[in-house]
Amino acid sequence: MDNRLKEKYVQLDKKNIWHPFTQMADWVNNDPNEPLIIDKAKGVYLYDVDGKKYIDGVSSLWVNILGHRNSLIDKAIKAQIDKVAHTTFLGLTHLPAIELSEKLLNILPQNLKKIFYSDNGSTAVEVALKMAYQYWQYKKEKRTMFLSLKNAYHGDTIGAVSVGGTDLFHARFRSLLFKNYFTMSPYCYRCKFRTKDIPFPQQAKNFKVHNVQVGCKGECIKQVEQILIKHSKKIAAAIIEPLNQAASGMIVMPRGYLTEYAKLCKKYDILLICDEVATGFGRTGKMFALEHENVWPDFMCLSKGITGGYLPLAVTVTTNKIYNAFLGKYEEFKTFFHGHSYTANPLACAAANAVFDILKEDNVLEKANDVIKHLEKELKGLLNHIRVGNIRQCGVMVGIEIVESKQTDKPYNCKLKIGAQICNKLRKHGIIIRNLRDILVLFLPLIITKREISKIIRAIKTELDEL
Ligand SMILES: *Cc1c(COP(=O)(O)O)cnc(C)c1O
Repeated sequence: MDNRLKEKYVQLDKKNIWHPFTQMADWVNNDPNEPLIIDKAKGVYLYDVDGKKYIDGVSSLWVNILGHRNSLIDKAIKAQIDKVAHTTFLGLTHLPAIELSEKLLNILPQNLKKIFYSDNGSTAVEVALKMAYQYWQYKKEKRTMFLSLKNAYHGDTIGAVSVGGTDLFHARFRSLLFKNYFTMSPYCYRCKFRTKDIPFPQQAKNFKVHNVQVGCKGECIKQVEQILIKHSKKIAAAIIEPLNQAASGMIVMPRGYLTEYAKLCKKYDILLICDEVATGFGRTGKMFALEHENVWPDFMCLSKGITGGYLPLAVTVTTNKIYNAFLGKYEEFKTFFHGHSYTANPLACAAANAVFDILKEDNVLEKANDVIKHLEKELKGLLNHIRVGNIRQCGVMVGIEIVESKQTDKPYNCKLKIGAQICNKLRKHGIIIRNLRDILVLFLPLIITKREISKIIRAIKTELDEL
């Protein structure tokens, strides 16, 4: 693109637009890189307006699983647009949503029987919370609290922030949020009870409360039971991101933690919500993270990867037990009063149907597991780097925690913005990734190749050497 024209667009962006999760003073004044204007994409590559290409190392913020401009998804959306782009789902229905519901139920845990559509991950969570809350009213129990984990991220709407465990977001909105019980995050690397090094990858098979892999006594799971013993009768539901607290920096749980957590929910009779907005659709190497531990929740929240990263769509899935409690006569008003304008958008459903077909017919998961092994091997090579405190991998999701001192695990002063700096420099290598503080995050499309992975890791190593 002509430089003067480009400069005009950059100035217009800076003048008109407020970007999400962005300190706009930096964006407008201080950012060493000009904003990257993306023009087009193909496969795992994004192209800017000058034609320079970049590996999309965060899957366009965790949504893209099959690459950009996948011909089958493109085709499915074009075919649907020739029929109808959008109609309401309140009082009407349509074929793409019906077909998708059947495909989903066929691969989800068998106790899950009902699909509630919406259009983003935060809403999928709000819906689950509201359903759980309303369910207990019909059971004539006063359960108004929720249980979640520190470092949890469930979205940006007020209900989702209420169960979210990020102190920063919580502090900002405290008086708006509902009360919630938190237990400690299973963040082994920064856990004060840890006495041993953390294995890589983190996969001790049997997480037992008194015999865990990092030499602690399983304080993180004990706290869950302590709260449930005291308060379970007040708790409507527990919500958890299975296997990986992604948005807090890829905090991968010790294997078995999820099983124990689910068992406790059963034992104390509270509903379990599994938020697979990030982990669903192959990210962990299986279709859903909970398949690794055979957990059957009462609710599942899905979004992000469901349309292959094309269009906004989300679902909250639940059991007949919950669904049946809402049945009644019209005048009882037991209806679930919730629904958005773009609920079950037909174009999005058509994209999702195509994603299902591709996942099945192209053996995407099988191939992805090969790539995941390669990624593990490459990451092992980074582990000993003097600036790397800890690496966590869960399928194609990776957190590389950068530290000032490997001996003491001491982080850098946050003013130095080390994580952001490295991500900026990686752009020169043709790689786009994002940091969460000083944790470098990879969230790779399932179709990425081994060569592309090696290139990313090599570039990260080069930039770490420069520190
Ligand atoms: C991204 C995310 C959400 C929120 O989804 P949005 O579509 O951004 O609202 C909720 N839960 C988890 C686990 C997520 O990663």
